[in-house]
Amino acid sequence: MSILVVGSVAFDTILTPHGNAEEVLGGSASYFAVAASYFAPVKLVAVIGEDFPEQERAFLASRNIDLEGLSVAKGRTFRWTGKYHEDMNMRDTLDLQLNVFATFKPVLPPSYRDCPFVFLANINPGLQDGVLDQLTTKPKLIACDTISHWIEGARPELEALLKRVEMLVINDEEARLISGDRNVVRSARKILEMGPKTLLVKRGEYGVLSFSPNSVFAVPAYPLEEVFDPTGAGDSFAGALIGYLAASNDLSEANVRKGIVYGSVVASFVVEDFSLRRLRTLTRDDIERRYRQFVSLTEF
Ligand code: AMP
Repeated sequence: MSILVVGSVAFDTILTPHGNAEEVLGGSASYFAVAASYFAPVKLVAVIGEDFPEQERAFLASRNIDLEGLSVAKGRTFRWTGKYHEDMNMRDTLDLQLNVFATFKPVLPPSYRDCPFVFLANINPGLQDGVLDQLTTKPKLIACDTISHWIEGARPELEALLKRVEMLVINDEEARLISGDRNVVRSARKILEMGPKTLLVKRGEYGVLSFSPNSVFAVPAYPLEEVFDPTGAGDSFAGALIGYLAASNDLSEANVRKGIVYGSVVASFVVEDFSLRRLRTLTRDDIERRYRQFVSLTEF
């Protein structure tokens, strides 16, 4: 079953205590799409500028990612610069140049409109809502992400969107901002009352908590000696999770739990190198091997 993703394709400049990377491929939709493509075909909607290199386009196309919805606009591709602290769970945005992303209005090609699995990566919630209006068939799963910027600046639009979404994937800080509560469990209960049936709270190196009305599930992050670049961990987590759900076409609680482990596994590879570099060589076998290690890691 195919997956529709709408979000950003970017050039990132990343500063970490271990080193820097300049103008490397990034963006929420890029990470999501490549991670999801290990499991199921992906249809991407995003915008790039005229400066986007053909070889990066070819890389995405080589991964079972349909690029009909990747439009090229006059101008430069979106750019983001982030700096990580010594504690890599903390980062600051140093620079953000929207460029062609400033006027981005996602338009789904007709062949995208009946996708059974939909992921709305971090963009303006009004635009995320507009994507749902273009669907001709009710999807099996609509999931979305958001960031503090929209929680604070576009609250009514976000609340309207949450009523239409089954799964929300955010970090603990965003969960606190949405709920106005510092406690993550109480936050989750409040957010589940706003629409989503499943809430996934990403907690960086501490792993992921999954909340649904009748259950809580906790998964640690895979313990790594060195985290090189956490950028895109959240988006690749969501990509592998939804990729796995789309491939298995099973939204049962038990299967969502497996998907959360696949998401954690793929995210753990992504942070081992800058940008999407690790995903360029990662194989499905590598994923399966670490999945099995993950199972024994959490077994008792
Ligand atoms: P994550 O580390 O999961 O938050 O994802 C980081 C990715 O999101 C980077 O590759 C950025 O290019 C992209 N990004 C950062 N800020 C924004 C924004 N305001 N809108 C869309 N994408 C963004």
